[in-house]
Amino acid sequence: MNATIGIISVDANHPIYVAGLLGNFRALGHKIRMTDTNPLPPNDWPELQAGWVWLCGAGPGDPGLITLHALNALRQADAIVYDALVDSRILEWAHDDADLIYAGKRGGKPSAKQRDISLQLVELAKAGKRVLRLKGGDPFVFGRGGEEAQTLVQHGVPIRIIPGISAGIGGLAYAGIPVTHRDVNQSVTFITGHDQSGETPNTLNWRAISQGSQVLVIYMGMKHITPITDALLKAGRPKDEPVAVVTDATTPNQKVLESTLGSLVTDLEKSDMSPPAIICVGRSVEMRQVLDWQSMIAGAKPRNLDPLGRGKPADAS
Ligand code: SAH
Repeated sequence: MNATIGIISVDANHPIYVAGLLGNFRALGHKIRMTDTNPLPPNDWPELQAGWVWLCGAGPGDPGLITLHALNALRQADAIVYDALVDSRILEWAHDDADLIYAGKRGGKPSAKQRDISLQLVELAKAGKRVLRLKGGDPFVFGRGGEEAQTLVQHGVPIRIIPGISAGIGGLAYAGIPVTHRDVNQSVTFITGHDQSGETPNTLNWRAISQGSQVLVIYMGMKHITPITDALLKAGRPKDEPVAVVTDATTPNQKVLESTLGSLVTDLEKSDMSPPAIICVGRSVEMRQVLDWQSMIAGAKPRNLDPLGRGKPADAS
């Protein structure tokens, strides 16, 4: 692919670039419809071609967490099929002529069927659209991206996959919780709190999970939080093990609840927190006492500079 970034005004300090794919657009006779004055940095950006579908992660919420490939896609797509968890501020970066098609699927609410969404993507591609399928977080993490991509390939539609920051990693980071931390865990397990039928997945071996992984990150866990915590306690995780619940992570509505496995259900009942939520079980939650950077930006002091009692990591190396 031979993408060219054209410099339309060069002032030594402030070059203004025409974003995207000047060379390709010219070659193909496309009109450049992007009006954005905040361009992509120079790179060999791929062209989203007619009849293609790009499956793309939009990250957990904060628009700044999408990738440059996602932005490149947003600026080219004719049709953008997006999920409920895609932040509306990101959709504003689509170009003016793009069709924005909602394919929301939220637990418990009437929503488009997965099969219909996949077939709609096929139809749009076959109609010659440049299609962007935009999904919250990462498309391949509990996002059914694999199913949609498979359907597209089965129908002969060419695809590209653009990963995104998953809520279970980026959402926790925004709460000041490192998903791995050398003093805490050498493994992390990502779990879905409900399966295709909407029930707590009974294929999960809670005992093995509890014993095998110091840190558990649970997606879609709010609805079944009682059986999930029961299963973990029964499998031997301690009652006083730290747990954090992060709702609307990375958005202006982000809320964080710190609790323990034994008190989580009661604490949640007392709170006004509602999905989408990431639940993190494990001692890495304690690191929030020193890494709650959002509170620090707001002027708070760290609660505890050494919550794990390990001294100064840099000194110990
Ligand atoms: N593909 C997505 C996950 C989709 S499943 C990803 O990689 O993040 C939907 C679940 O993701 C929600 O029920 C919730 O558990 C979690 N989730 C997604 N965005 C979130 C957010 N901003 N805050 C908290 N949880 C979120």
